[in-house]
Amino acid sequence: MQVDESVGEAAVAVDKASSGSRVMLGRIFRLLMFVDLPIKQKFLLLTAGTLFWFACMVVVSVFSLTVIHYKYHQIAEQLMPHDRAAVAVQMHLQSLDHELKAILLSESADFSVLQSARDHVKAIRSLNAELSLRQVNSSGTVVESFVRSLVTATPESIRYLQDINELTDRIDHILDDFIALKRKLARGAEAEGAAKVFGDAKERLTEASALVLQHAKVIADEYRATNEEIYQIIRNSVHAILFVLLIASVLLIFFVRWIFVAFHQPIAAIIEQIESLSTGDINLAKKVSIRSQDEIGTLSNKFNALVDSVYGMTLFKKVIEEDSTLEDVYRRLGDVFENQLEITDYTIYEINPQNKAMQIGYPLLSSDSMTLCDPEILADCGQCRAVKTGRKVSSFEFAGICRRFAPDSGIGHICIPLMAGGNTGGVVQFRFAADEQGNYRDPGVVQRLFKAENYINQSSSVIEAKRLMQTLRDSAMVDPMTGLYNRRFLQEYTKQIISGALRRKTQIGLLICDLDYFKQVNDTYGHDAGDLILKETSVILKSVVRDSDVVIRFGGEEFLVLLLDVSKGESMLVAEKIRQKIEMMKVVVGDKALQKTISIGVAEFPEDTDGFWQGIKYADVALYRAKEQGRNRVVRFSPEMWQKEAF
Ligand code: GH3
Ligand code: MG
Ligand code: MG
Repeated sequence: MQVDESVGEAAVAVDKASSGSRVMLGRIFRLLMFVDLPIKQKFLLLTAGTLFWFACMVVVSVFSLTVIHYKYHQIAEQLMPHDRAAVAVQMHLQSLDHELKAILLSESADFSVLQSARDHVKAIRSLNAELSLRQVNSSGTVVESFVRSLVTATPESIRYLQDINELTDRIDHILDDFIALKRKLARGAEAEGAAKVFGDAKERLTEASALVLQHAKVIADEYRATNEEIYQIIRNSVHAILFVLLIASVLLIFFVRWIFVAFHQPIAAIIEQIESLSTGDINLAKKVSIRSQDEIGTLSNKFNALVDSVYGMTLFKKVIEEDSTLEDVYRRLGDVFENQLEITDYTIYEINPQNKAMQIGYPLLSSDSMTLCDPEILADCGQCRAVKTGRKVSSFEFAGICRRFAPDSGIGHICIPLMAGGNTGGVVQFRFAADEQGNYRDPGVVQRLFKAENYINQSSSVIEAKRLMQTLRDSAMVDPMTGLYNRRFLQEYTKQIISGALRRKTQIGLLICDLDYFKQVNDTYGHDAGDLILKETSVILKSVVRDSDVVIRFGGEEFLVLLLDVSKGESMLVAEKIRQKIEMMKVVVGDKALQKTISIGVAEFPEDTDGFWQGIKYADVALYRAKEQGRNRVVRFSPEMWQKEAF
């Protein structure tokens, strides 16, 4: 058993650890994805990201174009002149070769050819000079000579220039020698020396030509290498740009997809809920899921709360519609105030439309003086500002707005009329602690009050309908001529009346009163005179009994009086009082004052019987006995009457 438990505990621990790491991973993911950042910062980040990748592309492009430009500049400005110069030197050397041959073969010393040969040498020298740069010091000596503008001033290329210059110098000297020899030959000297000089020159020319060719090759190699570098740079740049584009595109697709999920889905869900709200078909299972802590998350959260409160409100309305009494509705409204909205200091007043009086509907206080309102409003609801104006009256909006509310109590009031169909059926008064300036001590009240107002608005139509129903029911239970309750009332309230008496362990006096020879009045003075007597009798009956007693018009000229909470024998006294008062009653009809008497049968419940209706029957039996004994009398029921009558 213990082993099992420890295994179970270990499993729970593993579960906890894995869920903990999942939460941790989730947090890291949210942090990396900026899920909880406000929308503004998200878009700032998107902009910064886009700019970053743009900048990357610009850097790569500018760098590669600059390098390409530099390399092309090298080709155009450095390698090409060398190449051109090498070709030109080569041509000059070839021309020189031809001219040397022509000089050798000619009989005379042809100075124009010689001059041209010299010009070629000069041209070669100047071409070389163009390619070299000599730094000359103040005394005119060359301190340094190096190859100008070659991509790399290699020792070979420097030597080439030195060698070709040297060779050119030697060719120049040979030419001088050659001219001197030629002059000698012209004067008949031996030809042998000339041939040697020529041979020398020819050798130098070949050497120079080889040098130039060598140099041209170096240049060509250099050119090829530079070209290769340029291709490499272009290739690398294209790769880099493609790579940047790829990453930027992947990130963009990812971000757009993420925006779609983060924005579109909650908004679509909210739209769907709004549509279902508008059709009244609220599905609470379809809550907007909260994926982020940003504005969209807050929106989803608030929207869910709104749906909840709308649903709560709809449900509340349905429930109170099904409640049977106004008291139930008030109690439910009170429950919402106390349990949901945490408002404990409130009173629901209801208005009696008949006498314009106000009374506390809920919560029922032991004394009216516990309210902070002037008790006068209870007698005359027109004194209540909320009833009079039909609008919300708040001392927090305007200090001391209602003179009927106790001032300087450190408590403010908000009175909201229960309006329906233009009628004020009641008033809900909320009381909150106020500071010296008359503002709420707790600012959170405002929101709770707003919700409370919504509940009041929702319930006011139901309260009004219930009030109307109650009035209708009351009127169906009241005899219109006398204003007394009728038999229906008794049927409706028997249970309450009986249970009250049994609970309080008291008696109910049952008095059945019947006017004596009433038919005669109708026959002699007419029906209206009869009605008048019935009304007067009702007034007397009401006046004799207590407010809590119930007087019912039981039949045509027959009344049932229920004396609640009487002690044994007390009923007889009340009955006798009734009898006497009726005896003294005078009803003026025309020039006559009519007088009538009444007979009363008395029984007591539960003294005489456990059955309430049986008790009424007993009272009726007693009444029958009173009539029998000569009328205008009160007869108390006794058991032997029942046996005798054999009902
Ligand atoms: P008893 O002393 O035996 O009670 O004699 P009674 O004439 O009072 O008795 P009965 O039951 O014969 O007559 C009752 C009369 O009451 C019959 C009816 O015309 C009259 N009545 C009943 N309802 C009304 C009413 O609403 N108005 C008038 N004017 N008369 C009524
Ligand atoms: Mg009768
Ligand atoms: Mg009668």
